[in-house]
Amino acid sequence: MTDLRPIPLFDLKPQQLEVRAELVSAISAIVDNCQFVLGDAVSAFEADFASFCGTDEAIAVNSGTSALHLALLAAGVGPGDEVITVPHTFVATVAAVLYVGAKPILVDIDPVTLTMDPSKIESAISPRTKVILPVHLYGQAADMKAILSVAKRHGLMVIEDAAQAHGAEYSGRPVGSLGDMGCFSFYPSKNLGANGEGGAITTSSRALAERVRMLRDWGQTSKGVHQLAGFNYRMDGFQGAVLGVKLKRLPEWTSRRVAIAHRYAERLNEVGGLEIVGSQPESTHVYHLFVVRCKGRDTLAQQLRAKNIFTGVHYPHSVHLQPAYLGLGYQAGDFPVAEHAARSVLSLPMYPGLGDEDVDRVSSAIRDQLNDRLVA
Ligand SMILES: *Cc1c(COP(=O)(O)O)cnc(C)c1O
Repeated sequence: MTDLRPIPLFDLKPQQLEVRAELVSAISAIVDNCQFVLGDAVSAFEADFASFCGTDEAIAVNSGTSALHLALLAAGVGPGDEVITVPHTFVATVAAVLYVGAKPILVDIDPVTLTMDPSKIESAISPRTKVILPVHLYGQAADMKAILSVAKRHGLMVIEDAAQAHGAEYSGRPVGSLGDMGCFSFYPSKNLGANGEGGAITTSSRALAERVRMLRDWGQTSKGVHQLAGFNYRMDGFQGAVLGVKLKRLPEWTSRRVAIAHRYAERLNEVGGLEIVGSQPESTHVYHLFVVRCKGRDTLAQQLRAKNIFTGVHYPHSVHLQPAYLGLGYQAGDFPVAEHAARSVLSLPMYPGLGDEDVDRVSSAIRDQLNDRLVA
């Protein structure tokens, strides 16, 4: 069986190849014009990305983590403040809260969509709460209607972690335009990926945009005048050029991801012992990841690997149980839904260049494996 061609979890090469000529020409323009940091290519990408997200502003930075850090700073979050977020996410969401000296207050997730459970927010709010930070996990929006309504009742800001959900919509509005600010990552494997590191903050508040712009460039109001204690979080010119090329293809790549997801769903819907992570009815899904759940997840992953099919786990440990974040003071059992997700989720191969025959091979392998279990 191992002579079968490997199917990776993710493969960047088909995408790079598809736009190679455009990338090379966009990059070589930067080599010639020497706008290596920010510059025209970055500004043009910012304008295009803001329009893609339905916001007045997009500010490009050097990573999704930097985007979260600056959004929290611009929101005025600091020592003594609290930010409500989730334990079932990439660690960067929680780490950014610690960067500004604030305390992450975690709430459990919804058992169907695995995004923030809005019914858990109210009891987590204290007089120190400043921001609610939901994560649009795997490519679909969190339950924003409920989240925004709690935020409004309590006068809290909402910052969206949209690092996995470029182009997803909630009630017809793009993520990044729903809260006060949206934070995106352009890490190469994200739905919109740079050829290096990158990120952006989207907002329609001119005041917030101005603060973020200053903070990413040493807090300067004009050359040599440092109004705020800022950072060097600028996007480099090459990444702006690459992202400008790739953003034009994103709708097409997203359609392919959605088609792949539908094909998986058709083939896996009825498989006993397997559950597909559920959809948020108000949200479109851009399928950064296609995630299923089952008992004995690690065994299934191993059996698929034996058939040259490679899967991933996002994420194997809830943030509150990661050694680095035990200091938050939570313990096993505090977030049962998140902890169960960490044990059961499995990400199947998903990228625009994945073929229908690959989807079929992955699906049959899973069906065979789980049927064997029922028989045994
Ligand atoms: C990738 C990711 C980030 C961090 O983005 P980087 O560009 O890697 O710094 C933050 N949050 C989530 C949910 C992510 O998936």
